[in-house]
Amino acid sequence: MAERFEFEVMAQDGAARRGVIRTPRGEIRTPAFMPVGTAATVKAMMPESVRETGADILLGNTYHLMLRPGAERIDRLGGLHKFMNWERPILTDSGGFQVMSLSGLRKLTEEGVTFKSHVDGSKHHLTPERSMEIQRLLGSDIVMCFDECPSLPADRKRIAESMALSMRWAARSREAFGDRPGHALFGIMQGGLERDLREESAEALTKIGFDGYAIGGLAVGEGQAAMFDCLDYAPGFLPQDKPRYLMGVGKPDDIVGAVKRGVDMMDCVLPSRSGRTGQVFTRRGVVNIKNARHADDPRPLDEGCSCPACRNYSRAYLHHVFRSQEIISSMLLTWHNLHYFQEIMDGMRGAIAEGRFDDWEAEFHGLRALGDIEPL
Ligand SMILES: [Zn+2]
Repeated sequence: MAERFEFEVMAQDGAARRGVIRTPRGEIRTPAFMPVGTAATVKAMMPESVRETGADILLGNTYHLMLRPGAERIDRLGGLHKFMNWERPILTDSGGFQVMSLSGLRKLTEEGVTFKSHVDGSKHHLTPERSMEIQRLLGSDIVMCFDECPSLPADRKRIAESMALSMRWAARSREAFGDRPGHALFGIMQGGLERDLREESAEALTKIGFDGYAIGGLAVGEGQAAMFDCLDYAPGFLPQDKPRYLMGVGKPDDIVGAVKRGVDMMDCVLPSRSGRTGQVFTRRGVVNIKNARHADDPRPLDEGCSCPACRNYSRAYLHHVFRSQEIISSMLLTWHNLHYFQEIMDGMRGAIAEGRFDDWEAEFHGLRALGDIEPL
């Protein structure tokens, strides 16, 4: 096990990179997909099962955990890893994004954000310094800078002001984080879809110096084409020797497109959330298990998948338990979705290492274009 936080790029194919992040809590193979454990749990999954899907790292949400059960309480109980029974690396977001998207009344100043909890209406204050303190109390391995992110579309003036504020907050985050061997602090690039603002943001962050760099402010309503346009240049503004993390992405084809453009890490609630709404991601596209066509179908979701849902259960059974709102439905469909997302990552890691990413990508899109298997 590494004593320090390290990143190594082992192979590159086009802009796509195969690498490894070493931490005292274990290695993270990149490109990596991080399942989201919002409230100290990946919903409907035991941590052991999340690991079985192939996840090396989880994401925890500062906003949710600070409100309930509280960062100080988690610290008293031994930290987030022990609290939720996940001994491997954890990345925590800064809370900034969810304050903006979830909380009620809020007030943004140079100092930070004051907001009302969506849980009980209580008043809270979040600053770069407090965000660093909360993430330290949680015991997070990869800590994110506290930033502000406008939803798109937004006018250039708003994006520029917000980016400049985020850069000042990045410097304060760096200062407050201090020197914590084995733990990493990531800066977050902002700038919307404005190329020069992205470059300016990357320069500001690089000057401060971080262990990794996130590309923030994407996947906030701009659409895939606009996001890919930005990813055609944005990763190139960041240091080559540090991991690049695209926050909140995405659907399988978003993930593949991002890796192709040089992204090393991603997170998204999509596989777990969709598992609870009956939406299943397979190599041949999206399957809606609620659909009546599955009611008599004895075949698995995906005969090429080795997850428990596909190995041991039929589409008919999964359809039945979903329609009956049985808890096992969320368990099995979430497991399958997480397994499939990790299989995509594994496939890309292998393809990059062997210099055949384009072939892999063509096969990925080819299978999806076929659509779901024919009804019986
Ligand atoms: Zn499966």
